[in-house]
Amino acid sequence: MNLYAVFGYPITHSLSPRIHAQFGRQLGIALTYERRAVPAGSLAAAVQSFREEGGRGANVTVPLKTEAYALASTRTPRAERAGAVNTLTFRDDVIAGDNTDGDGLLADLAYHKVALPGARLLLMGAGGAAQGIIGPLLDAGVDRIAVWNRTQARVQEWLARLRDDRLREPVPGDSYDIVINATAASLGHALPPVPDAVFRGALVYDLAYGPVAGRFLAHAQAQGAGRVLDGLGMLIEQAATAFCVWHGVRPDTTDVRALLRGETV
Ligand code: NAP
Repeated sequence: MNLYAVFGYPITHSLSPRIHAQFGRQLGIALTYERRAVPAGSLAAAVQSFREEGGRGANVTVPLKTEAYALASTRTPRAERAGAVNTLTFRDDVIAGDNTDGDGLLADLAYHKVALPGARLLLMGAGGAAQGIIGPLLDAGVDRIAVWNRTQARVQEWLARLRDDRLREPVPGDSYDIVINATAASLGHALPPVPDAVFRGALVYDLAYGPVAGRFLAHAQAQGAGRVLDGLGMLIEQAATAFCVWHGVRPDTTDVRALLRGETV
């Protein structure tokens, strides 16, 4: 059985099963992809029973990406750099960890023709998703990334660990070409407490998608954002990269984009 799943908590609204099923149909690969509700602290047990059922791979979402990093027995360089894992592959005695979030974000920005070289970014958040995207954003040639997080100490840890002189703390009065919301604030229907001026003229991207991202993006637009995008495209693109990790071929994402966009706005 070609069995895959997404692990997370809560997980009932995950679109990943539909995305992977559509990719499988497109490429003629028969697979089963399920949702598994796995609370923090129980990933190892969930993986063990999933493997006993014949599971070959799993995506991992909130709140398990750091746990998945620790559980993996091997990690790709991009997962190592992120310190977070969102894609697990099971074979023999190996649990291989990868991180496709950064690849997914960059593919979605490319789809929307957003230029990264030379751009001034504000990245809000320092959790699992932000950890996955910051390395690829730096590699894409941005001019600088100011990192803001609710818990300031996490930013200090990052700056010390990543050691890149394009990374800094936000300075009042700075303006940005791109503002990325990688906090979970939208999920709690809150707005990250950053000055309204940061949105002025910027392309604003919320990693959340659908109605929960809507409030944040509407706020950004009201404060003068030039353009707003939600994270649905990133979700689809990171899934395409995970699909490629497991099946060796990257699906075309056009059909899934059209299918899901009509349902999540
Ligand atoms: P996480 O590891 O739990 O990190 C949560 C982050 O959000 C932390 O930086 C946390 O700050 C911050 N935060 C939480 N509540 C906040 C609030 N009320 N105000 C300000 N900051 C707050 O979660 P994650 O995995 O990074 O996910 C973050 C978001 O990205 C979620 O909305 C998730 O759905 C989305 N995401 C989307 C994709 C995609 O493909 N589109 C992929 C991954 C994640 P502290 O450090 O202070 O706790």
